[in-house]
Amino acid sequence: MPTAIGFNPSVHRDRLSRAAGAASERSIEALLITPSPDFAYLLGYRAPVLERLTCLIVSADGAPALVLPRLEEPLARHELGDLADGITLVSWDETDDPIRLVQTIVAGARRVAVQDQMWARFALRLRAALDPTELVEAGPTMSALRRIKSPDEVQRLRVAASAADTAMSAILGEQLTGRTEAEVSGHIRQLLLEAGHDEAGFAIVASGPNSASPHHAAGERVIETGDAIVLDIGGTRAGYASDTSRTAFVGKPEPEFAALHAVLREAQAAACDAVQPGVPCSEIDAVARRIIDEAGYGDLFIHRTGHGIGMEVHEEPYIVASNPELLQEGHAFSVEPGIYLRDRWGARIEDIVVCTDAGGERLNTTSTELYIVE
Ligand code: ZN
Ligand code: ZN
Ligand code: ZN
Repeated sequence: MPTAIGFNPSVHRDRLSRAAGAASERSIEALLITPSPDFAYLLGYRAPVLERLTCLIVSADGAPALVLPRLEEPLARHELGDLADGITLVSWDETDDPIRLVQTIVAGARRVAVQDQMWARFALRLRAALDPTELVEAGPTMSALRRIKSPDEVQRLRVAASAADTAMSAILGEQLTGRTEAEVSGHIRQLLLEAGHDEAGFAIVASGPNSASPHHAAGERVIETGDAIVLDIGGTRAGYASDTSRTAFVGKPEPEFAALHAVLREAQAAACDAVQPGVPCSEIDAVARRIIDEAGYGDLFIHRTGHGIGMEVHEEPYIVASNPELLQEGHAFSVEPGIYLRDRWGARIEDIVVCTDAGGERLNTTSTELYIVE
């Protein structure tokens, strides 16, 4: 049975009112939020993403309204529970025009924001119907709230990370030679679920030369002695995501690979240790990159150091050279440098780290060593 993803209604009432406040600070008169992580963050449940419009309207002043197909109303009432008391439910019938209902609610607004993942068919129809209202992205408003995790959210991330660690330890203890990447990947998904995830999100198994491709899709390659293997796995539990990577070598590691991995491990640890409120995201990236550069692998570290994590695997804040944003208590993100030598091998080490007043707290606790597997 899936775990509930919502918190108690007071948390969601608070989020709705903070969303209204954040919109008004940006001179946005209403947020139009279709089913998405933003929607679940505000209302505590995942509405199905459908061709029929469901749209939460958070007005900068006034009560929120939820426009939804009549047939979705029982589910919404059930999931919202007491929260429904503060929300105007506007159900539409099959022959109604839901765009018109939204238009009526936001009539006269000068500036309205639409959820970033809203389907183009809705966004374009809204733009036409609401003209001359200016439509902007709701992303900055929503991420201003979502990027700072409450202690309850951090706890969910911690539990998800620990479940991912359990799955990672289990797979690293198994014999991998003679198995295809796809089979191992399927097995990891099962381990993620057994360890407590509600959903297995992804299980990258990149072996041999494939380990040089950061987002390799596990395929029919059979794992053999002498392979480097990058495992990058995660899922969601109670609405929050896990994401961890470890690197293994099948049999005795080649000295060149062990040396590369040692540099990577040092860079990853230094970047985790540099986490503190007030440090720019770009600096965390620079700490890892300097160590990798100085060891001569700079050109082989081909991606940013990390990404925020929460209800989505990738969200703000991004740990990238171009992001001057200062870390704050409650930021949660990955620290995952990698080194990739095309057609030969690659390595990545990834932990989720939360910024606390005392520095970075690593949520993943398995060793970052180079694992020797059979
Ligand atoms: Zn990735
Ligand atoms: Zn990952
Ligand atoms: Zn990641």
